Amino acid sequence: MNHTIVLNKRPVGKPQLTDFSIVTEETPTINTGEILLKTSYVSVDPYLRGRMSDSKSYIAPFELQKPVSSGIIAEVVESNHSKFSKGDFVSGLLQWKEYQKSTGEGLIKIDAKKAPQSAYLGILGMTGLTAYLGLSEIGNPQKGETVVVSGAAGAVGSVVGQIAKIRGCRVVGVAGTDEKVEMLTRDFGFDEAINYNTTENMTEAIATACPDGVDIYFDNVGGDISDAALLNINKFARIIICGAISVYNETTLPKSISVQPFLVKNSALMQGFIVSNYAAKFPEAMQQLATWLAEGKLTYVETVVEGFTQIPQAFIDLFDGKNKGKMVVKI
Ligand code: NAP
Repeated sequence: MNHTIVLNKRPVGKPQLTDFSIVTEETPTINTGEILLKTSYVSVDPYLRGRMSDSKSYIAPFELQKPVSSGIIAEVVESNHSKFSKGDFVSGLLQWKEYQKSTGEGLIKIDAKKAPQSAYLGILGMTGLTAYLGLSEIGNPQKGETVVVSGAAGAVGSVVGQIAKIRGCRVVGVAGTDEKVEMLTRDFGFDEAINYNTTENMTEAIATACPDGVDIYFDNVGGDISDAALLNINKFARIIICGAISVYNETTLPKSISVQPFLVKNSALMQGFIVSNYAAKFPEAMQQLATWLAEGKLTYVETVVEGFTQIPQAFIDLFDGKNKGKMVVKI
Protein backbone atom coordinates (compact mmCIF):
# COMPACT_ATOMS: atom_id res chain seq x y z
CA MET A 1 0.00 0.00 0.00
CA ASN A 2 0.99 3.61 -0.57
CA HIS A 3 0.74 6.63 1.73
CA THR A 4 -0.16 10.23 0.87
CA ILE A 5 -0.21 13.35 3.05
CA VAL A 6 -3.16 15.63 2.36
CA LEU A 7 -4.10 19.06 3.69
CA ASN A 8 -6.85 18.29 6.16
CA LYS A 9 -7.71 21.89 7.07
CA ARG A 10 -6.26 25.32 6.44
CA PRO A 11 -3.91 26.31 9.29
CA VAL A 12 -4.92 29.23 11.47
CA GLY A 13 -1.77 30.77 12.93
CA LYS A 14 1.11 28.33 13.30
CA PRO A 15 0.41 25.06 11.43
CA GLN A 16 -0.52 22.05 13.59
CA LEU A 17 -0.18 18.32 12.94
CA THR A 18 -3.99 18.09 12.79
CA ASP A 19 -3.94 20.31 9.68
CA PHE A 20 -2.60 17.24 7.83
CA SER A 21 -3.85 13.66 7.38
CA ILE A 22 -2.17 10.53 6.14
CA VAL A 23 -4.24 8.61 3.63
CA THR A 24 -3.61 5.00 2.60
CA GLU A 25 -4.23 4.06 -1.02
CA GLU A 26 -3.21 1.51 -3.64
CA THR A 27 0.23 1.93 -5.18
CA PRO A 28 -0.42 3.20 -8.72
CA THR A 29 0.22 1.15 -11.85
CA ILE A 30 1.71 2.80 -14.90
CA ASN A 31 0.61 3.03 -18.53
CA THR A 32 2.60 3.72 -21.69
CA GLY A 33 4.52 7.01 -21.43
CA GLU A 34 4.51 6.93 -17.64
CA ILE A 35 7.01 6.22 -14.87
CA LEU A 36 6.58 5.02 -11.29
CA LEU A 37 8.50 7.14 -8.79
CA LYS A 38 9.62 6.22 -5.28
CA THR A 39 10.19 9.31 -3.14
CA SER A 40 13.62 9.53 -1.55
CA TYR A 41 13.86 13.14 -0.22
CA VAL A 42 11.18 15.75 0.44
CA SER A 43 11.87 19.46 0.77
CA VAL A 44 9.86 21.35 3.38
CA ASP A 45 9.79 25.09 2.78
CA PRO A 46 8.32 28.14 4.53
CA TYR A 47 6.56 29.26 1.31
CA LEU A 48 4.27 26.19 1.53
CA ARG A 49 2.54 27.98 4.42
CA GLY A 50 1.20 30.52 1.91
CA ARG A 51 -0.20 27.75 -0.28
CA MET A 52 -2.05 26.33 2.73
CA SER A 53 -4.10 29.55 2.95
CA ASP A 54 -6.70 30.34 0.34
CA SER A 55 -5.68 33.98 -0.19
CA LYS A 56 -4.54 35.17 -3.63
CA SER A 57 -0.82 34.72 -4.26
CA TYR A 58 1.69 34.06 -7.04
CA ILE A 59 0.92 30.34 -6.83
CA ALA A 60 -2.39 28.51 -6.43
CA PRO A 61 -3.44 27.37 -2.94
CA PHE A 62 -3.44 23.67 -2.03
CA GLU A 63 -6.89 22.11 -2.13
CA LEU A 64 -8.36 20.59 1.00
CA GLN A 65 -8.17 16.76 1.23
CA LYS A 66 -5.74 16.79 -1.73
CA PRO A 67 -2.02 15.96 -1.52
CA VAL A 68 0.46 18.64 -0.52
CA SER A 69 3.34 19.04 -2.97
CA SER A 70 6.87 20.41 -2.77
CA GLY A 71 10.33 19.85 -4.21
CA ILE A 72 11.03 16.11 -4.19
CA ILE A 73 13.83 13.77 -5.26
CA ALA A 74 12.56 10.40 -6.43
CA GLU A 75 13.88 7.24 -7.98
CA VAL A 76 12.37 5.80 -11.15
CA VAL A 77 11.41 2.27 -10.06
CA GLU A 78 9.42 1.33 -13.19
CA SER A 79 9.43 2.95 -16.61
CA ASN A 80 7.19 2.80 -19.66
CA HIS A 81 8.75 6.03 -20.91
CA SER A 82 11.40 6.39 -23.62
CA LYS A 83 13.29 9.17 -21.79
CA PHE A 84 13.48 7.64 -18.29
CA SER A 85 15.03 4.36 -17.17
CA LYS A 86 14.66 2.35 -14.02
CA GLY A 87 17.30 3.60 -11.55
CA ASP A 88 17.24 7.23 -12.74
CA PHE A 89 16.84 9.88 -10.06
CA VAL A 90 14.69 12.92 -10.76
CA SER A 91 13.88 16.23 -9.11
CA GLY A 92 10.60 18.08 -9.45
CA LEU A 93 7.53 19.53 -7.83
CA LEU A 94 5.81 16.31 -6.71
CA GLN A 95 3.21 15.19 -4.21
CA TRP A 96 3.82 14.09 -0.63
CA LYS A 97 3.42 10.41 -1.55
CA GLU A 98 5.67 7.42 -1.04
CA TYR A 99 4.99 6.28 -4.62
CA GLN A 100 3.46 8.25 -7.49
CA LYS A 101 3.26 7.98 -11.22
CA SER A 102 4.26 10.72 -13.66
CA THR A 103 4.48 11.48 -17.36
CA GLY A 104 7.89 12.98 -16.64
CA GLU A 105 6.65 16.51 -17.37
CA GLY A 106 8.58 19.09 -15.34
CA LEU A 107 11.01 16.52 -13.98
CA ILE A 108 14.77 16.99 -14.23
CA LYS A 109 17.17 14.05 -14.07
CA ILE A 110 19.80 14.54 -11.39
CA ASP A 111 23.24 13.03 -11.17
CA ALA A 112 23.23 11.37 -7.75
CA LYS A 113 26.93 10.53 -8.20
CA LYS A 114 27.99 14.18 -8.57
CA ALA A 115 26.33 15.44 -5.38
CA PRO A 116 24.18 13.90 -2.66
CA GLN A 117 20.51 13.69 -3.71
CA SER A 118 19.39 16.13 -1.03
CA ALA A 119 21.76 18.82 -2.34
CA TYR A 120 19.47 19.12 -5.38
CA LEU A 121 16.75 20.41 -3.03
CA GLY A 122 19.06 22.94 -1.39
CA ILE A 123 22.34 24.38 -2.57
CA LEU A 124 21.87 22.95 -6.12
CA GLY A 125 18.09 23.40 -6.07
CA MET A 126 15.44 26.00 -5.42
CA THR A 127 16.98 27.59 -2.32
CA GLY A 128 20.47 27.88 -3.86
CA LEU A 129 18.96 29.47 -6.96
CA THR A 130 16.96 31.87 -4.77
CA ALA A 131 20.09 32.98 -2.92
CA TYR A 132 22.15 33.40 -6.09
CA LEU A 133 19.54 35.10 -8.25
CA GLY A 134 18.01 37.30 -5.53
CA LEU A 135 21.39 38.62 -4.50
CA SER A 136 22.79 38.99 -8.03
CA GLU A 137 19.75 40.30 -9.89
CA ILE A 138 18.41 42.75 -7.31
CA GLY A 139 21.31 43.20 -4.90
CA ASN A 140 24.08 43.55 -7.50
CA PRO A 141 26.75 43.34 -4.75
CA GLN A 142 29.94 45.32 -5.20
CA LYS A 143 33.31 44.70 -3.54
CA GLY A 144 33.58 46.48 -0.20
CA GLU A 145 29.83 46.88 0.32
CA THR A 146 28.07 45.75 3.49
CA VAL A 147 25.39 43.05 3.19
CA VAL A 148 22.97 42.14 5.99
CA VAL A 149 21.07 38.82 5.70
CA SER A 150 18.19 37.76 7.92
CA GLY A 151 17.25 34.10 8.32
CA ALA A 152 21.00 33.78 7.84
CA ALA A 153 21.44 30.25 9.20
CA GLY A 154 18.71 28.83 6.96
CA ALA A 155 18.82 27.32 3.48
CA VAL A 156 18.65 30.58 1.52
CA GLY A 157 20.39 32.85 4.04
CA SER A 158 23.50 30.72 4.56
CA VAL A 159 24.11 30.68 0.80
CA VAL A 160 23.40 34.41 0.36
CA GLY A 161 26.07 35.25 2.94
CA GLN A 162 28.67 33.02 1.34
CA ILE A 163 28.03 34.42 -2.14
CA ALA A 164 28.28 37.96 -0.78
CA LYS A 165 31.67 37.01 0.71
CA ILE A 166 32.78 35.59 -2.68
CA ARG A 167 31.78 38.98 -4.16
CA GLY A 168 34.07 40.75 -1.67
CA CYS A 169 31.44 42.18 0.68
CA ARG A 170 31.35 42.56 4.45
CA VAL A 171 28.58 40.20 5.60
CA VAL A 172 26.47 40.34 8.74
CA GLY A 173 23.93 37.60 9.47
CA VAL A 174 20.90 37.60 11.77
CA ALA A 175 19.75 34.29 13.27
CA GLY A 176 17.84 32.94 16.25
CA THR A 177 20.31 31.04 18.48
CA ASP A 178 23.89 31.41 19.74
CA GLU A 179 24.75 28.10 18.08
CA LYS A 180 23.56 29.40 14.71
CA VAL A 181 25.38 32.70 15.16
CA GLU A 182 28.60 30.83 15.92
CA MET A 183 28.09 28.58 12.90
CA LEU A 184 27.73 31.60 10.61
CA THR A 185 31.12 33.07 11.45
CA ARG A 186 32.92 29.77 12.02
CA ASP A 187 31.63 27.64 9.10
CA PHE A 188 30.25 30.09 6.57
CA GLY A 189 32.75 32.96 6.80
CA PHE A 190 30.29 35.69 7.83
CA ASP A 191 32.11 38.68 9.34
CA GLU A 192 29.61 39.06 12.17
CA ALA A 193 26.31 37.57 13.27
CA ILE A 194 23.58 38.72 15.63
CA ASN A 195 21.21 36.58 17.71
CA TYR A 196 17.90 38.44 17.39
CA ASN A 197 16.41 36.50 20.31
CA THR A 198 18.96 37.78 22.83
CA THR A 199 19.50 41.27 21.38
CA GLU A 200 17.40 44.00 22.96
CA ASN A 201 17.99 46.72 20.40
CA MET A 202 18.37 45.31 16.88
CA THR A 203 18.78 48.75 15.30
CA GLU A 204 21.80 49.48 17.49
CA ALA A 205 23.19 45.97 17.03
CA ILE A 206 23.06 46.28 13.24
CA ALA A 207 24.60 49.77 13.43
CA THR A 208 27.47 48.42 15.54
CA ALA A 209 28.03 45.42 13.25
CA CYS A 210 27.88 47.64 10.16
CA PRO A 211 29.99 50.74 10.91
CA ASP A 212 29.76 51.82 7.24
CA GLY A 213 25.98 51.30 7.07
CA VAL A 214 24.00 48.71 5.09
CA ASP A 215 24.27 48.66 1.29
CA ILE A 216 22.25 45.48 0.71
CA TYR A 217 19.64 43.91 2.96
CA PHE A 218 18.54 40.41 1.95
CA ASP A 219 15.23 39.98 3.76
CA ASN A 220 14.05 36.47 4.57
CA VAL A 221 11.98 37.27 7.64
CA GLY A 222 10.21 40.67 7.59
CA GLY A 223 8.92 42.19 10.85
CA ASP A 224 11.05 43.92 13.51
CA ILE A 225 14.39 42.61 12.20
CA SER A 226 13.71 44.14 8.81
CA ASP A 227 12.59 47.43 10.34
CA ALA A 228 15.92 47.57 12.19
CA ALA A 229 17.87 46.87 8.98
CA LEU A 230 15.94 49.59 7.15
CA LEU A 231 16.93 52.14 9.81
CA ASN A 232 20.59 51.50 8.91
CA ILE A 233 20.55 51.64 5.09
CA ASN A 234 22.93 53.74 3.02
CA LYS A 235 22.29 55.90 -0.02
CA PHE A 236 21.40 53.69 -3.03
CA ALA A 237 20.85 50.64 -0.80
CA ARG A 238 19.14 47.60 -2.34
CA ILE A 239 16.63 45.63 -0.29
CA ILE A 240 15.65 42.21 -1.60
CA ILE A 241 12.32 41.05 -0.20
CA CYS A 242 12.68 37.30 -0.52
CA GLY A 243 10.46 36.16 2.35
CA ALA A 244 8.71 37.22 5.54
CA ILE A 245 8.55 34.11 7.72
CA SER A 246 8.04 36.17 10.91
CA VAL A 247 4.58 37.15 9.68
CA TYR A 248 3.45 34.06 7.73
CA ASN A 249 1.40 32.81 10.69
CA GLU A 250 -0.10 36.19 11.67
CA THR A 251 -3.89 36.26 11.74
CA THR A 252 -4.13 40.07 11.74
CA LEU A 253 -2.44 42.56 9.44
CA PRO A 254 1.13 43.01 10.78
CA LYS A 255 2.26 46.51 11.83
CA SER A 256 5.62 47.77 10.62
CA ILE A 257 7.28 51.12 10.11
CA SER A 258 6.43 53.18 7.08
CA VAL A 259 9.17 52.38 4.57
CA GLN A 260 8.68 55.30 2.18
CA PRO A 261 10.70 58.00 4.05
CA PHE A 262 13.69 55.66 4.35
CA LEU A 263 13.58 54.70 0.68
CA VAL A 264 13.20 58.35 -0.44
CA LYS A 265 15.91 59.74 1.86
CA ASN A 266 18.37 57.10 0.69
CA SER A 267 17.30 56.77 -2.96
CA ALA A 268 17.02 53.10 -2.06
CA LEU A 269 15.47 50.21 -3.99
CA MET A 270 13.16 47.69 -2.31
CA GLN A 271 11.95 44.87 -4.56
CA GLY A 272 9.96 41.70 -4.06
CA PHE A 273 11.64 38.58 -5.43
CA ILE A 274 10.15 35.28 -6.62
CA VAL A 275 12.70 32.81 -7.90
CA SER A 276 10.42 31.33 -10.59
CA ASN A 277 10.39 34.71 -12.37
CA TYR A 278 14.06 34.11 -13.20
CA ALA A 279 13.68 30.60 -14.72
CA ALA A 280 15.58 31.63 -17.85
CA LYS A 281 18.66 32.18 -15.67
CA PHE A 282 18.47 28.84 -13.80
CA PRO A 283 21.06 26.99 -15.99
CA GLU A 284 23.70 29.72 -15.64
CA ALA A 285 23.00 30.09 -11.90
CA MET A 286 23.13 26.33 -11.34
CA GLN A 287 26.42 26.11 -13.23
CA GLN A 288 27.95 28.84 -11.04
CA LEU A 289 26.72 27.26 -7.80
CA ALA A 290 28.06 23.82 -8.83
CA THR A 291 31.44 25.34 -9.75
CA TRP A 292 31.78 27.18 -6.44
CA LEU A 293 30.73 24.02 -4.59
CA ALA A 294 33.31 21.92 -6.43
CA GLU A 295 36.00 24.57 -5.77
CA GLY A 296 35.18 24.55 -2.06
CA LYS A 297 34.14 28.22 -2.15
CA LEU A 298 30.61 27.30 -1.07
CA THR A 299 29.59 24.88 1.63
CA TYR A 300 26.22 23.87 3.03
CA VAL A 301 24.53 22.32 6.00
CA GLU A 302 21.33 20.29 6.12
CA THR A 303 18.90 19.20 8.78
CA VAL A 304 17.75 15.72 7.76
CA VAL A 305 14.63 14.30 9.40
CA GLU A 306 13.83 10.66 8.70
CA GLY A 307 10.50 9.05 7.82
CA PHE A 308 7.55 9.81 5.56
CA THR A 309 5.17 10.45 8.47
CA GLN A 310 7.55 13.12 9.84
CA ILE A 311 7.06 15.49 6.86
CA PRO A 312 4.36 17.68 8.51
CA GLN A 313 6.35 18.00 11.77
CA ALA A 314 9.51 18.92 9.85
CA PHE A 315 7.53 21.61 8.04
CA ILE A 316 6.09 22.96 11.32
CA ASP A 317 9.58 22.97 12.89
CA LEU A 318 10.75 25.58 10.35
CA PHE A 319 8.66 28.11 12.26
CA ASP A 320 10.51 27.26 15.48
CA GLY A 321 13.92 27.53 13.84
CA LYS A 322 14.70 23.86 14.47
CA ASN A 323 16.69 23.62 11.24
CA LYS A 324 20.21 24.66 10.37
CA GLY A 325 20.55 25.10 6.61
CA LYS A 326 18.14 23.20 4.39
CA MET A 327 15.44 21.14 6.11
CA VAL A 328 14.78 17.90 4.21
CA VAL A 329 12.97 14.68 5.02
CA LYS A 330 14.61 11.41 4.01
CA ILE A 331 12.10 8.71 3.19
P1 NAP B 1 15.00 28.49 6.30
O1 NAP B 1 15.62 29.85 6.51
O2 NAP B 1 15.90 27.35 6.05
O3 NAP B 1 14.08 28.10 7.52
C1 NAP B 1 13.29 29.01 8.16
C2 NAP B 1 14.06 29.78 9.25
O4 NAP B 1 13.33 30.97 9.55
C3 NAP B 1 14.11 29.05 10.59
O5 NAP B 1 15.19 28.15 10.67
C4 NAP B 1 14.23 30.19 11.60
O6 NAP B 1 15.60 30.44 11.92
C5 NAP B 1 13.68 31.40 10.84
N1 NAP B 1 12.49 31.93 11.52
C6 NAP B 1 11.38 31.24 11.86
N2 NAP B 1 10.50 32.06 12.48
C7 NAP B 1 11.11 33.29 12.52
C8 NAP B 1 10.72 34.56 13.06
N3 NAP B 1 9.54 34.73 13.65
N4 NAP B 1 11.58 35.58 12.93
C9 NAP B 1 12.79 35.43 12.34
N5 NAP B 1 13.21 34.25 11.81
C10 NAP B 1 12.38 33.20 11.91
O7 NAP B 1 13.99 28.63 5.10
P2 NAP B 1 14.36 28.98 3.60
O8 NAP B 1 13.80 27.92 2.75
O9 NAP B 1 15.79 29.31 3.50
O10 NAP B 1 13.50 30.29 3.36
C11 NAP B 1 13.91 31.52 3.93
C12 NAP B 1 12.92 32.59 3.48
O11 NAP B 1 13.01 32.75 2.08
C13 NAP B 1 11.49 32.29 3.80
O12 NAP B 1 10.82 33.47 4.18
C14 NAP B 1 10.95 31.76 2.50
O13 NAP B 1 9.57 31.93 2.37
C15 NAP B 1 11.74 32.59 1.52
N6 NAP B 1 11.92 32.01 0.18
C16 NAP B 1 11.51 32.76 -0.84
C17 NAP B 1 11.71 32.33 -2.13
C18 NAP B 1 11.30 33.23 -3.26
O14 NAP B 1 11.37 32.85 -4.41
N7 NAP B 1 10.85 34.43 -2.93
C19 NAP B 1 12.29 31.09 -2.37
C20 NAP B 1 12.73 30.33 -1.27
C21 NAP B 1 12.52 30.81 0.01
P3 NAP B 1 16.02 31.23 13.27
O15 NAP B 1 16.38 30.18 14.25
O16 NAP B 1 17.15 32.06 12.82
O17 NAP B 1 14.83 32.01 13.72
